[in-house]
Amino acid sequence: MQKDIANWFSEQLLSWYQLHGRKTLPWQINKSPYKTWLSEVMLQQTQVATAIPYFEKFTRRFPDVTSLAAASQDEVLHLWTGLGYYARARNLHKAAQIIAAEHNGKFPVEFEQVLALPGIGRSTAGAILSLALGQHYPILDGNCKRVLSRFAAIAGWPGNKKVEQQLWQLAEQVTPAGPDVTAFNQAMMDLGATLCSRSKPRCAECPLKLNCRAALAGDQSLYPGKKSTKTLPEKHSYWLMLQHQQQVLLQQRPASGLWGGLYGFIEFSSEQLRTDYIALNQLQVSSSLDMPAFRHTFSHFHLWITPQLVQIKTLPDSVQEQSNAQWFTIAQLPQVGLSAPAKILLQQLQALQPTE
Ligand code: SF4
Repeated sequence: MQKDIANWFSEQLLSWYQLHGRKTLPWQINKSPYKTWLSEVMLQQTQVATAIPYFEKFTRRFPDVTSLAAASQDEVLHLWTGLGYYARARNLHKAAQIIAAEHNGKFPVEFEQVLALPGIGRSTAGAILSLALGQHYPILDGNCKRVLSRFAAIAGWPGNKKVEQQLWQLAEQVTPAGPDVTAFNQAMMDLGATLCSRSKPRCAECPLKLNCRAALAGDQSLYPGKKSTKTLPEKHSYWLMLQHQQQVLLQQRPASGLWGGLYGFIEFSSEQLRTDYIALNQLQVSSSLDMPAFRHTFSHFHLWITPQLVQIKTLPDSVQEQSNAQWFTIAQLPQVGLSAPAKILLQQLQALQPTE
């Protein structure tokens, strides 16, 4: 991009930000690298309006890195329940423990040290240091990718290394040096989230419209380019909702992988294995209810879940001793991280209980 266009871009955006930018979000009040980090991680896959109550809950419970580091992973995942992409919460917790151990509980202020923390890539590190401390780093989150690819008509999917490199180069060119970097980076995110939206960009109101190639050509919907679409594969899982009196059995999943560290129902890869489990553990079934199968979609596959609610009369030792499994009272949602479908099923189970 020519230097004069790059300068024009940043001047236009900064003037627009003065009038229309967001300046009173909860993480913008009494800013700190810790709060900015928390908000940036939450905003990686989540809209601002959804993230705000989670941010407030988190900062009330964990006002600083040290309190987050000292918490149990179960509690962190519990507070994250509903936000999705749980690797973010596990990485936050791990990063807080690293900061507590290696940086004396103070959020690092060197780019390389921030980048070395789990769950932080180049854009998030740049956002934390520029938004909280005014350091000169460009950012390239999803909103910025959309604005820049439209403005300069960069074709191709931004997940492609070459396209991403081009976008980073543009981001470097338009990001102003000096104290304006904070407002500029915030403005890029705000413009992408408000005017330059995915499906209906409001170009007539946009400060960049006079030089935006996509707006001039009227082909905004071509940018950013899409990943070649493939049909997602489908997998099946059979869940056993084991109930004994007013309690239900939940099992914690392994720390890594799908829903890592979260609690859910015991699962099987086939209906037969679920039936075998009941027989093998000599469960005395008092009633059994097949619940309707439903689909949960991950980024790389669809998971069909077929739950079965089974009430048992007595508690065999083999079930009680099951590793990572615990009985929880149905009447109250357990204070642990739950996978989204497990949470919905628990709520349905609560509704099924007879009222006194
Ligand atoms: S003119 Fe339209 S497409 Fe271009 S950056 Fe602005 S809102 Fe996006």
